[in-house]
Amino acid sequence: MNKLSTRINNLSESATLAMSRLSRELKQQGKDVISLSLGEPDFNTPDFIKKSAVQAINDNFSHYTPVPGILELRKSICEKFYRDNNLEFNENQIVVSTGAKQSIANVCLSLLDKEDEVILLAPYWVSYFEIVKLCGAKPIVVESKIENNFKSSVKEIEKKISNKTKLLIFSSPCNPSGSVYSKKELILMADMLKKYDNLFVISDEIYEHINFTNEHYSFGLIESMKDRTITVNGVSKGFAMTGWRVGYIGAPEFIASACNKIQGQITSATCSIAQKATQAAVLSKPEDSTKHMKIEFKKRRDLIVNQLSQIEGIKCNVPDGAFYVFPDISYFFDKKDENNSFIKNSNDLSMYLLNDAHVATVAGDAFGTSECIRISYATSTKNITEATQRIKKSLEKLK
Ligand code: PMP
Ligand code: GLU
Repeated sequence: MNKLSTRINNLSESATLAMSRLSRELKQQGKDVISLSLGEPDFNTPDFIKKSAVQAINDNFSHYTPVPGILELRKSICEKFYRDNNLEFNENQIVVSTGAKQSIANVCLSLLDKEDEVILLAPYWVSYFEIVKLCGAKPIVVESKIENNFKSSVKEIEKKISNKTKLLIFSSPCNPSGSVYSKKELILMADMLKKYDNLFVISDEIYEHINFTNEHYSFGLIESMKDRTITVNGVSKGFAMTGWRVGYIGAPEFIASACNKIQGQITSATCSIAQKATQAAVLSKPEDSTKHMKIEFKKRRDLIVNQLSQIEGIKCNVPDGAFYVFPDISYFFDKKDENNSFIKNSNDLSMYLLNDAHVATVAGDAFGTSECIRISYATSTKNITEATQRIKKSLEKLK
């Protein structure tokens, strides 16, 4: 008998984490796997951030902190929001959590009731879909095309809005497409949304510092949406701090209070030492502390786009940010591998590449765009070159 709740039975495993688990298992069996599945910078956390954590340990800063984060950190986050994004928040509007993933879950749990609808702009980050389901709400997907750089038009979004729509979630720069919405595009979206006054927006800006257009515009800056936008950010991506587990929101105060209440019952505050490290990160000027990573990511983007474009059947656009490419691989559907098994979808292709080329990617199905696969280029140029050569060889074998 299945003793688990319906909630958990309906939940899918995170596709990104599942693929990274599979590639770890193959590596343990001695296979030479190049893992381009997990979205995490391969850089070390900058030294000045590590030093502040060491200082906090030596200062015995080891007690529970206030649930939404220590006051000094929340004040520093307000400074960061103002300095980098022109967003004005007070410390009661900030909640620091155990990763941006928890920030998003807190907001969804705070806002969503059963049967509420949530608009997701595909390709969307895998966990949005499952978090919305966990809340008992219904994800409503707006599709997009590679020809439009995977951006949904305002018209297409509006078509999916109903009187049950409570929330819209998107990321810019986007995981998995790397697309960046411009100020103009965001204003058009806000103009359309302003008449739906029960609709909130989560603007996930965790890849803010990995943006090659040099224009990052925060949706919450648009006056008509200011009181209905939750800005999510964190230190995982921009500061190479995935394992420290710190994310945060700037939100209308009633939503921040709700997130505080949920967090107080589920996890309490995140790690006290990681909060001190985060304070050093957010107080630093990104152009000084993270620029070297952005420059390197851009070089790798150019390299991988160039190499993938030379493979017959792969359609690839040039992403403007984050560290992913999201090529269309539908050309290979209905082809057969050497064992006469058909490649029916992106899942099959991703598994074929893992088993044949020993390159781990993530199938686009999990991001709501089934004709693509996601490839993370947060790895060395040597790995990128080797991986694309292997991918090419394996794809050439499909008949
Ligand atoms: N949002 C997006 C778009 C992401 O790619 C990630 C990746 N982990 C997160 C949120 C969650 O980040 P964190 O590691 O801070 O939980
Ligand atoms: N967000 C990263 C990714 O998309 C890390 C894995 C995860 O948290 O899902 O790969």
